[in-house]
Amino acid sequence: MSDLLHLTQHPGTNPKSFISSICATEIVDGDTWVELTESYFYPSGGGQPADHGLLENEGGVFSIQNVKKGKRLLHNIGNLDNKILDFGGPMTASIDIDRRNLLSRMHTAQHLLSAAADELFSGNTIGNQIGLEKTRIDIGIEDRSKFDKESLEQLVNDSIEQQIPVTMSQEKRTNLTSNPLVRVNLELLPKNVDELRVITIQGRDICPCAGTHVANTKEIGEIQINKVKSKGAGKLRVEYSLV
Ligand SMILES: [Zn+2]
Repeated sequence: MSDLLHLTQHPGTNPKSFISSICATEIVDGDTWVELTESYFYPSGGGQPADHGLLENEGGVFSIQNVKKGKRLLHNIGNLDNKILDFGGPMTASIDIDRRNLLSRMHTAQHLLSAAADELFSGNTIGNQIGLEKTRIDIGIEDRSKFDKESLEQLVNDSIEQQIPVTMSQEKRTNLTSNPLVRVNLELLPKNVDELRVITIQGRDICPCAGTHVANTKEIGEIQINKVKSKGAGKLRVEYSLV
């Protein structure tokens, strides 16, 4: 199992390039996926798309267009026409900073929006898909007549304007269970995990999360809710973008 080194990094913006080397390859449907001796790339998961980036040495440049985690962390470097890679040598790996920063802003905004929906309407986040241009969050609300788009947008933007620090820590599960700022159902997390990587937006929200985030809410900018639609009884899909 490859170490997910992005988990050790906070804030998740402006990631530095690093030296690594290819230790294994796998070809799936013509595309070559490589495992690196170490990697800080974010693999797709938890509603957040994977990092993109470059892997280079004197021999050439490979473009990383997807990263997935399974037993190993694999980086897709595209179709190389079955050319065998020369592994073992050091390579410079760099994460696409603009893409990462945008996803970290979008993702931290999702924490604020989920917290605001909980506070305002007892809304429970049941899914999300972070995007570069728009992000959607599915919210369960027993009484949908309570939902108000303007107050939701306002509360998120107020938290952004308050320039609240966003921090990362490791917490014991038992320390989180009775904290009202923990809005997710900890019962849904794997039972064997006792220590959780937790993202705290001070005084607003505490959430176990493996994604990438900004260091302060002011970096998000401003959000705008563009669309709200029904996803069935007691369920709304809220779509927002960064202004
Ligand atoms: Zn998160």
